[in-house]
Amino acid sequence: MTSLSNIYLKKPFSHIYVENQAFKYDETYRITNFFKNSQLIEVSDYRNVFNSHNQNFNLQKKTPDLILAVKKDNFLYKGSDLCHGYENMDFYYLTNMINCLYDCDYCFIRGMYTSANIVYFVNTNDFFDAVAEEALGKDVFIPISYESDLLVMESIFRIFARWYSFCVENSNVNIEVRTKSSCINVIKKYRPVKNILLSWTLSPDLIISSYEKKSPPLQKRIKAVNQALEAGWKVRLSFDPILLIDDAEKIYTSFFNQILSEIPVDFLFDLNIGFFRMPTTYFREFKSKTQFSPVLYSDWEYSGDHVTYSSDRKEKFMKSAEPYLKEFSRLTKVLYMV
Ligand code: SF4
Repeated sequence: MTSLSNIYLKKPFSHIYVENQAFKYDETYRITNFFKNSQLIEVSDYRNVFNSHNQNFNLQKKTPDLILAVKKDNFLYKGSDLCHGYENMDFYYLTNMINCLYDCDYCFIRGMYTSANIVYFVNTNDFFDAVAEEALGKDVFIPISYESDLLVMESIFRIFARWYSFCVENSNVNIEVRTKSSCINVIKKYRPVKNILLSWTLSPDLIISSYEKKSPPLQKRIKAVNQALEAGWKVRLSFDPILLIDDAEKIYTSFFNQILSEIPVDFLFDLNIGFFRMPTTYFREFKSKTQFSPVLYSDWEYSGDHVTYSSDRKEKFMKSAEPYLKEFSRLTKVLYMV
């Protein structure tokens, strides 16, 4: 029987669940060879493992298992046309991978799934076929790391590498790769291209150490951003979500100052800013998994289909941040996420 202490001693990806159909793909053999010491478990449908009840999300977050699956349909989802910075293009998103090695207390994925195990869909070419078909005769914009942080796992899964080649051949397909990682080395070997946007989420160090567990400190992310800019990549910064914790005004003022002095903001493609918000449908499940997080102890307001901070609280913050936001707007395009 597996004892609790054994579970804590378990290494990430110590067990790999492989869907029968995934054995048809070379990618499955490459990954399972990479994790030679992991225990392989064959399953008929990944959803039987991933969606099963009685899973301990928080325990799995510490040492997730890996699930190799084949995506059968819904390769591409139509996104909302609001606020993505590519207003003249059709906006979609997709999920090559579900779940992430980082553990942010505010992550909406906590509200979406019962499992923190990482699902990797090995049939990447089917995603490319779906995108190529949808993008026929038009320009499209697609964030590809919607439910994961792909760059931090690039040395294992090489998803960026494949998307890079696809984008080089399909200049009408514009992708955004969002990350909190400092893994600049994995992209150094590629020549920057106009249709790939590298997007870094930055937060004050106190927020990172308290609520963005396992992710790199601010200084390392700033270094990665500057190296990407120097190399000529198109770079977006994202201050999203802003968390209105105690002393938020003071904490973020000092953070904005640091960004303005350490990053050449006028070289950015743009900058996104948004307060913490979450679809109401995920919020109940999210709360049940993150009951000890101070992120939750706030004055919530239900706005449309989202939960967010009260308007008064947001206004107070915006007032104190105004001089900095004006300076950011002077230097680059600023998008307010709603
Ligand atoms: S990095 Fe993004 S996807 Fe990963 S846990 Fe944090 S918020 Fe969620």
